[in-house]
Amino acid sequence: MIPFLDMKAVYAELKPELDAAYARVMESGWFVLGKEVEAFEAEYAAFCGTAHCVGLANGLEALELTLRAWDLGAGDEVIVPSNTYIATWLAVTAVGATVVPVEPTRDGVNIDPERIAAAITSRTRAIMPVHLYGEPADMHAIMTHAHQHGLKVVEDVAQAQGARVRGRRTGALGDAGAHSFFPTKNFGAFGDGGAVTTDDARLAGRLRVLRNYGSRVKYVNLERGFNSRLDEMQAAFLRAKLPRLDAWNEHRRRLAARYDDRLAGIPGLGLPRVPQWAEPVWHLYVVRVLDGEGRRAGLMAALDKAGIGSLIHYPIPPHLQQAYADLGRPKGSFPLAEQLADTVLSLPMGAHMKLEAVDEVAAVVRAALA
Ligand SMILES: *Cc1c(COP(=O)(O)O)cnc(C)c1O
Repeated sequence: MIPFLDMKAVYAELKPELDAAYARVMESGWFVLGKEVEAFEAEYAAFCGTAHCVGLANGLEALELTLRAWDLGAGDEVIVPSNTYIATWLAVTAVGATVVPVEPTRDGVNIDPERIAAAITSRTRAIMPVHLYGEPADMHAIMTHAHQHGLKVVEDVAQAQGARVRGRRTGALGDAGAHSFFPTKNFGAFGDGGAVTTDDARLAGRLRVLRNYGSRVKYVNLERGFNSRLDEMQAAFLRAKLPRLDAWNEHRRRLAARYDDRLAGIPGLGLPRVPQWAEPVWHLYVVRVLDGEGRRAGLMAALDKAGIGSLIHYPIPPHLQQAYADLGRPKGSFPLAEQLADTVLSLPMGAHMKLEAVDEVAAVVRAALA
């Protein structure tokens, strides 16, 4: 049995540290916006290489509150990937702004900077690139377009904590980085959590007000805010995990390299292609099963029969979801995103997966596609 992701292994590895974090918070009697969140924000900002980090309730609200802090709303356009998890789009439409979906590069999964240039209008205010599957988007090209047109850039770092582009961390490459600490992410809490990293003191200050009812001083409300706070317990758990993050990502790299090796040369199987300048963190190892939907379903069934977990990230692109039916983007509107949805398959991957397990998975894939 090889699970898609082992969610219990981290407690087995870090039990003393996590138990100590739990006890520290319980004994403090302080659970919201206190010393743990403050310390976590400083430590995570240092890790990402930004001046500020603001702890929030989850990744979706990290994206959404950043747009609100920039006063984006009705009439404003935000460029988003056509190929992403729906949260990216939900943040934009939540503030009343318009999503302008842009297709990925032809042989990749992330937003295509060339197509971004073509999608910019007089109403464009921001670009929201996603580092999908832990692979950094082409931030150098994206920031060049953004600077040329005076646009804000918020990175969706939910799947890429610790990744780098030319030595610099994701989350420090745009004007803001929105992080999710959902338990399955590379850097996950034991519940919901999120954060924004930024060098912009004004943005950080506004987010601190927005996350706490629009208030800086208790019972004095400067604006109509929200309740979106990272809690002390999750912050304490994240502090216990942060020192291990780079080593865990390094292990994911070894797993990915082994998959690349063991899966090479299988006809009709596309392996992930990573640009030279990118240092991904392999949130997911995603292959493409070409030549038709039936073949992917057959492979999933073979893996399942062998006790191996696999998942599709994601089976329906946002524009084809009922949630966005009102946008009037029928099938065929974003063919590259649709093609990916029809062909991608995520194989088991995680910081605690055994290297030898890759060989077992690869053997089943090879036999199934032979
Ligand atoms: C998980 C995820 C989010 C949302 O994070 P939550 O903490 O679950 O709100 C946003 N974008 C992407 C790409 C994600 O994978």
